[in-house]
Parts: sequence; C-alpha cells; structure tokens
Amino acid sequence: MVDAVIVGTMALDSIETPFGKAEGVLGGSATYASYAASFFCRPGIVAVVGEDFPQDALQILGKRNISLDGLKKEKNAKTFRWQGSYEYDMNEAKTLKTELNVLASFKPDLPAEYRDARFIFLGNIDPQLQLDVLSQIRSPNLVIADTMNFWIEHKREKVKEVIKKIDVLLLNDGEARELFEMPNLSRAGKSALGMGPRAVIIKKGEHGALLFTRAAHFSAPSYPLENVVDPTGCGDCFGGGLTGFLAKTDDVSEWNVRKAMIYGSAIASHNAEGFGLEVLKKISIVDVERRFNEFKSIREF
Ligand code: AMP
Repeated sequence: MVDAVIVGTMALDSIETPFGKAEGVLGGSATYASYAASFFCRPGIVAVVGEDFPQDALQILGKRNISLDGLKKEKNAKTFRWQGSYEYDMNEAKTLKTELNVLASFKPDLPAEYRDARFIFLGNIDPQLQLDVLSQIRSPNLVIADTMNFWIEHKREKVKEVIKKIDVLLLNDGEARELFEMPNLSRAGKSALGMGPRAVIIKKGEHGALLFTRAAHFSAPSYPLENVVDPTGCGDCFGGGLTGFLAKTDDVSEWNVRKAMIYGSAIASHNAEGFGLEVLKKISIVDVERRFNEFKSIREF
C-alpha cells in the first residue's frame, strides 16, 4: 500500500547556473517530489524511463521507501532529458532543450495497490498523463496538481481540463500570469478557484508562496538562504513535501495545508543548496524540522 501516488518525469538534467554546471544528473518532477514526500510517508511513483537510465538512481529512491512498482522501463528508448540554465536571478529557469523521448508514448497503467491511494500528486508532466493517472484512482481524498510553462504553451486546454478535476492547484507566479492572462496574482488565484479547486498555491521562488482559498489567504515566508547553488526541482520538492505531510497527517484542513506549505518550503530550501539530489541525500527529518521551526520564527510579529 502506498500513502501517496506521485506522477511526473524522471529525467536526466543538464544544468548551468552562475555557480557551476551539472551534466546528465538525476532529476525530473517525480524524482524530486517523491524524494521530498518520503520524509513523511511512502510514496509510489508513476513514471517512465529509458534504457539509458542509471540503475543506481533507482537504488537511491528505493532506499527511501519509495515504491517503484509504477515505474516503466522502456527498452530501446531514451529517458526524458531537460537542459536549463539560470542567470543571477535564480527564480526562473530558462529551458534550453526539452527532449520528451520515452515520455511521448507513455501510457500509465497503475499497479492495483496504487489505485486506492488517498493522496495524489499530479506532478509536472503532460496534462494528458495527469488525466490518465487520475482516471485510475478510485476515491482520492485530495488531488494536488502542478504544471509549468512548457505545458501551458503546448497544451493549454488540457491543463485547464486538469484544473477542473483537482482540489489543490500549484503553479509559480509567472505561470499563473501566463495561464490566466493577468498580471495580478490575487486575481489569477481567484480565476483558478473559479475553475473548481478548493485551494490555489502560487509559488514565488525565493520569495515564498501564497495560498488562496474561497475563505482565506495565507502567505508563506521565504527562507533567507545565503547559499543558492541550483534551484532546479525546488517547486517539485515543495509539492512533494506538501503532499507527503498531508498524507502522513491525513488532515486536509486549511490550517494543516498552511503547515504543509512550510514543510514543503523547508525541503525546497535545502534542495537549492546543491545540484540534483546532492543535499537531500545528506539531510534527515531532523534538519527539515529545524528549518520548519526557523520558518515559524520568521513569520512571528
Ligand atoms: P522545478 O525546478 O521544480 O520546476 O522542476 C525542475 C525539474 O522539472 C527538472 O528536474 C526537469 O527534469 C523537470 N522538467 C523540465 N521540463 C519539464 C517538462 N516540460 N515536464 C515535466 N518535467 C519537466
């Protein structure tokens, strides 16, 4: 039995930031999100990789009590690859190349034990695949979905179809403006709520995150990180950490969603301190709790 089903990409990333370079490192939305969720619960991955995907990467995830039963390995095919770069403003990645490869023909077929999961994270991936996964889940308690500009630009209507079927929408500030065609984030949040979700979370990179519901508004602070090396995967860590904490506590009240946002931010902030999973592999829940408490003191006045 898995506590949360996480669909997304498993990728080989090539990244360049003003502070260094990494070639072909383990990345992808499902990788980061499931790793982050595994601080709290047992996630099950739905993803696809090619023949070139390194075996040791799977061991890294397996050791974290992440179920890989929903992972497909395609012969004679290449893994999804993403190449991106950041300038001094590390809030926005510039996509240099996206190679869908094995993702282009992926047809998810969920293992039986995934179908009864109560918490679902539709990570950043083709919105059609998000819908395919969702259609195989029997009776979820909470469905959270993330997306990015690539899919908003290529499959806008499908992204909207997903939004109509979920409980919590995550997207970053630039994507919210792009999808709803309005510069004001409060209005974009309202437009998103108008499509069905009961909560919308707008991530603002190093500036924190905003939660909009019909009744309330919450602003999660940012962590004053001095050592940002590579923000790749921070959005996915935020979403995975949030989902994992909600699954562990089995409490979807607004108050608990606020807490979950801070746990997601705590994991994301650790992730930004190194390339790939470099830092997450070294920390434990004790470090996450410590940062959670620091966040608390930042917000008090
Ligand atoms: P984030 O920095 O949280 O937005 O996510 C970065 C991760 O998303 C990288 O590890 C990439 O492999 C992955 N990624 C990049 N482009 C896409 C895409 N179009 N669909 C799904 N995942 C992607």
